[in-house]
Amino acid sequence: MPRQTLARIDLEALRHNYATARSLAGDARAMAVVKADGYGHGIRAVATALADIAPKYAVACLEEAFAIREAGLSQPVVLLQGVHDSGDLADCARQGFEPVLHSENQLDGLIRSEHRPAFWLKVNSGMNRLGFHPDQMATVIERLQNSACYPELLGFVTHFACADDPDSPMTADQTARFVAATERWPDRMRSVANSAAHFLPGQQRFDWTRPGIMLYGGSPVLGKTGPELGLKPVMHLEAPLINRRLVRAGESVGYGAAWVADRDTWMGMVAIGYGDGYPRHAGTNTPAAIGGHRIRLIGRVSMDMLAVDLSGAPDARVGDSVELWGGTVGVDEVAACAGTISYELMTGITARVPREISPLPVRE
Ligand SMILES: *Cc1c(COP(=O)(O)O)cnc(C)c1O
Repeated sequence: MPRQTLARIDLEALRHNYATARSLAGDARAMAVVKADGYGHGIRAVATALADIAPKYAVACLEEAFAIREAGLSQPVVLLQGVHDSGDLADCARQGFEPVLHSENQLDGLIRSEHRPAFWLKVNSGMNRLGFHPDQMATVIERLQNSACYPELLGFVTHFACADDPDSPMTADQTARFVAATERWPDRMRSVANSAAHFLPGQQRFDWTRPGIMLYGGSPVLGKTGPELGLKPVMHLEAPLINRRLVRAGESVGYGAAWVADRDTWMGMVAIGYGDGYPRHAGTNTPAAIGGHRIRLIGRVSMDMLAVDLSGAPDARVGDSVELWGGTVGVDEVAACAGTISYELMTGITARVPREISPLPVRE
């Protein structure tokens, strides 16, 4: 029998979160961002569960787009980093993948290519990672107009640096720069909003939003948890209690003897560790739960196990399932304790952890 360490994936919650994104998007449509294996949930299951409600998907790279086709789905797929080799443009044209062109290299490759995929142009409105500078837009469009590719230009995208912080003036600045850079081509579509921008009052959302983390129930907003934003947890990370023992006052637990009992304490060992993607930086007092009762981690996380203080769940027995995050303990809380964000935790769950997909009710 396999160990009971697993990530249960609640696809009803995923659909609820997508519906939330869509209603926040107003008149814009929402492309479901399913890169990084559906933020660690399994791209195939996630994309399939959204197939009847999401008109478009977005991924980082070609391999991820093919995973969507291998699941038998035919919606367009946006490649947020475009292609890394212009030879891949043939696949884009054939498969309905929409590359986002962000560099002169990619532009040259497309203009020289005999293939004509529909594509997007990325505007660098201030993130300064990728994209064409607003001052370059006229030249870029002129080059395209003089090429056979121009009719396939779907529109423009940009990406926000600080949308998670409602007090930052940066998002409004970036939006203004994006509008100024693209307003000469009003017949093309525009896309700006990551998850966080769905929650900014008054934010323009144009034609397409790009929700990612919110689909999975993680919070995109500083200082707020997913449930506080009306999102439901999709991943429930669980592992069994494999040992239970009384640690006497003064005794330590685990590597580095990092935690010392200040009184006699019932502690348990849980069969999950950083080899499963549970963060090693989650220290003493990081929350977990058993049977809906909150408990806390003690000592250092090992590769294959971690220790918990069972004072909060005195009836816990070996074999009981411990929730590392899910319905009782939010992934955002664990992320805060580990000095990171829910994105990193969910995408970091390793292949050793089976994803157990909840069946969706059959729909007419
Ligand atoms: C990953 C990504 C998104 C989704 O971001 P979230 O914060 O997860 O909503 C949107 N746009 C681009 C360009 C991305 O790379």
